[in-house]
Amino acid sequence: MASFDVIILGAGPGGYVCAIRCAQLGLKVAVVEGRETLGGTCLNIGCIPSKALLNATHNLHEAHENFEKMGLMGANPTVDWARMQAYKQDTVNGNTKGIEYLFKKNKVTWIKGWASIAAPGKVQVGDAVHEARNIVIATGSEPSTLPGVTVDEVKIVTSTGALTLPEIPKTMVVIGAGVIGLEMGSVYARLGTKVTVVEYLDAITPGMDAEVAKAFQKILTKQGLDFILGAAVQGVISDADGAHVTYKLRKTDAESTLTADTVLVATGRKPYTAGLGLEELGVEMLPRGQIKTDHFATNIKGLYAIGDAIAGPMLAHKAEDEGMALAEILAGKSGHVNYGLIPGVIYTVPEVANVGLTEEQLKEQGHAYKVGKFPFMGNARAKAAFQAEGFVKILADKNTDRILGCHIIGPAAGDLIHEVCVAMEFGASAQDLALTCHAHPTYSEAVREAALACGDGAIHA
Ligand SMILES: Cc1cc2nc3c(=O)[nH]c(=O)nc-3n(C[C@H](O)[C@H](O)[C@H](O)COP(=O)(O)OP(=O)(O)OC[C@H]3O[C@@H](n4cnc5c(N)ncnc54)[C@H](O)[C@@H]3O)c2cc1C
Repeated sequence: MASFDVIILGAGPGGYVCAIRCAQLGLKVAVVEGRETLGGTCLNIGCIPSKALLNATHNLHEAHENFEKMGLMGANPTVDWARMQAYKQDTVNGNTKGIEYLFKKNKVTWIKGWASIAAPGKVQVGDAVHEARNIVIATGSEPSTLPGVTVDEVKIVTSTGALTLPEIPKTMVVIGAGVIGLEMGSVYARLGTKVTVVEYLDAITPGMDAEVAKAFQKILTKQGLDFILGAAVQGVISDADGAHVTYKLRKTDAESTLTADTVLVATGRKPYTAGLGLEELGVEMLPRGQIKTDHFATNIKGLYAIGDAIAGPMLAHKAEDEGMALAEILAGKSGHVNYGLIPGVIYTVPEVANVGLTEEQLKEQGHAYKVGKFPFMGNARAKAAFQAEGFVKILADKNTDRILGCHIIGPAAGDLIHEVCVAMEFGASAQDLALTCHAHPTYSEAVREAALACGDGAIHA
């Protein structure tokens, strides 16, 4: 039996970041991971492989659509799916090995196997029981599906199956117009698959600023994705002809069926806590299956939880921030996560990014606000790169000018959003951003111009 200050269950972004920070703060720490490799959902079957495929297929799109316009001539590249898959796996392997290296460097012990919590302070892995003053549950999440839809990961797949399809399907139905559905839908649309997205709500990307969501849908439609909105999927049947998705339009009750080679079920994820023994321990849960926490502490002394297994957005950087904050708390310092400033990014082309409040939320709150908007059409760098679709929208308090939210659809939106995050963290006004010198020509000038538009006006609009 080994004894530790902290044992963390799960080596995803929440668990591995928590472990490294604990070690840096002088705690003796171990991580139990059941998977063969470190990095959790994010590195193995989530963020990283999906971004590799998005990168490869974006380059394919550039070669087909824009190379000749730039004077780059030659035969159009074709797709070697096996090699693209190998590139994706190499990217994953490089990253998961990177975490192994960081564990060694920081003297984090990796206990291989599936863990359960035998009793407070005791973690069982196989026949061995390890002791710890503190146990952290960072066991993440798994895909959730719909009633009447049985995933076989062959024809009816989750994101996990969609990342490793044996061949590129001719047709695909994506159920759910959220981040994962649209990213994977984009990948296959760029590879030539006819993609139809079926969404229960009347708009894509629920919760996103409505103006951005509308512009995003228009752009994706232009890229060849079809959308059926306000449609409740009734069931999916798979046979020799493919997979058949039956849906009912919510407004009219009219029922239709779509047939496709592959159906991607992208209806969200649910916390994964199976086999931990939480019920036996009496751990309080929330109605949607998350572990109930207060500053990451569960109702059991010395037992904590972070990441996708608890409430809040299911995002890698949210899990990481919680891991870091909890490590600080366990080391006797103060750890804090600002949940009002967690950015969201969709890595399509154009990218979509947001932080803070949407216009709809401000209206709902009756908050007096002003809007500063700037289109990428007025940004020289974006035009040179054929990336001039989209805009930056900054929402600021009408009276104080304090920035309340930012919504970007356009090139490098996922990077641009962070200057606004920093500004908001420091309580900046739109004028603070507007008066900050931005290098020319950069995409970031569009952020500054949107900030200027909150005041006396943008220059290039
Ligand atoms: C296709 C896809 C794309 C995504 N893209 C993004 C993105 O671009 N950006 C972003 O921010 N988020 C993205 N996400 C979400 C992101 O992956 C998760 O929010 C993140 O991984 C959560 O981290 P976590 O540490 O809480 O859990 P996970 O990453 O899920 O890690 C949990 C780990 O715990 C292990 N485990 C579970 N139970 C046990 C046990 N009993 N014993 C031992 N080990 C156990 C699991 O094997 C797993 O490795 C994506 C997700 C998917 C599916």
